Amino acid sequence: MRYFDYAATTPPFEEVITTIAEVMRRHYGNPSSMHRYGEDADKLLKRSREVCAMALGVRPAEIVFTSGATESNNLAIKGAAIQYQARGKHIVTVSTEHPSVYEACKQLRDQGFEVTYLPVDAEGHVSAKQVCDAVRKDTILVSIMHVNNETGRVQPMQDIGVALKKQFPRVLFHVDGVQGYGKLPVDIRGWQADLYSLSAHKLRGPKGAGLLFVREGVKLSPLLSGGSQEQGLRAGTENVPLLVGMSKAIRLADERQAETARRMIEWRDRVVAEVETIPQLRLNSGNEAPHIVHFSYPGMKAEVLLHTLEQLGVAVSTKSACSSKLAEPSRVLLAMGCSELEASGGIRISFGDEHTEQDIDELILALRQAVAKLESLERWKH
Ligand code: PLP
Repeated sequence: MRYFDYAATTPPFEEVITTIAEVMRRHYGNPSSMHRYGEDADKLLKRSREVCAMALGVRPAEIVFTSGATESNNLAIKGAAIQYQARGKHIVTVSTEHPSVYEACKQLRDQGFEVTYLPVDAEGHVSAKQVCDAVRKDTILVSIMHVNNETGRVQPMQDIGVALKKQFPRVLFHVDGVQGYGKLPVDIRGWQADLYSLSAHKLRGPKGAGLLFVREGVKLSPLLSGGSQEQGLRAGTENVPLLVGMSKAIRLADERQAETARRMIEWRDRVVAEVETIPQLRLNSGNEAPHIVHFSYPGMKAEVLLHTLEQLGVAVSTKSACSSKLAEPSRVLLAMGCSELEASGGIRISFGDEHTEQDIDELILALRQAVAKLESLERWKH
């Protein structure tokens, strides 16, 4: 069986697994304790923060460790909204955001905030002009993802950040960076981001670890009540083993980004070329994120194609992992103007740095065979 669902999660690096086990076994102190065990754990935490900061090109004091990007996005959005509500109660985001942003904003709307969900064009993009036009006197936050987790569409972060900050320097800019980091160049300072979320398990690190970059000077209201860990922004004993593991994964992803992208782009282009030769399939991704190919099979239930591909030895995804068990058509594809049929038959293939040419050959063969098989079985159609 070959795994092509790296946008959902990735197998951790062997080196990350060994490190986590080693830290659990030998460095189990609470980093807040004052004895040797605590100091030992605290040192590891400090070093991990430095490694993450270095890879992101920011200061260690600007890194807040979390349990993953869902928490980072919630902390960024709700934390900023609550902290800055005296300035205004309006938030701008995009209709194709990950649920951890989309739903966090929706929850704030129920609590009296106003949210503008910007529409996207047929290719899933928003423009800097759209963003700036949506900003009002009472806007406090703009939240936009770098790379879409379903379609691999990439937003123009540099244009958006620069235009936004030029016209509205007081409006905070949050970037959900989960699907872009390690695949595309990231420039947090150049984009003028105030807040940037990452998740370890998309980068061959462990599940349950993430971080939020919080630019110096930006204040957030913490979501959890408790101790003063993470500069008072995230109460709770830090998960030292996972955070050390995450720092390793982030360092490796950073060091290998250009090479990883180069290889993935070759595979992506081969798979895209194949999809384009199959008339039943409609491509939804473009030459954007190196690791994602997304297409619809209008009239065919996505899970039927998924299981057919699985029988042929390849594991892919319908929609994103977080929402693939929901029966509705993809909100992201609908926002791009796809029909309900197209939005219900979406398949995402996502690559990892471990894949080989042979894996791609097998994927392409399985895709051809699956479509041929399903075309002969009318009954699976909607
Ligand atoms: N943002 C994006 C774009 C994602 O793809 C994901 C994961 O699917 C998340 C946020 C949530 O990350 P986590 O699984 O670490 O909570």
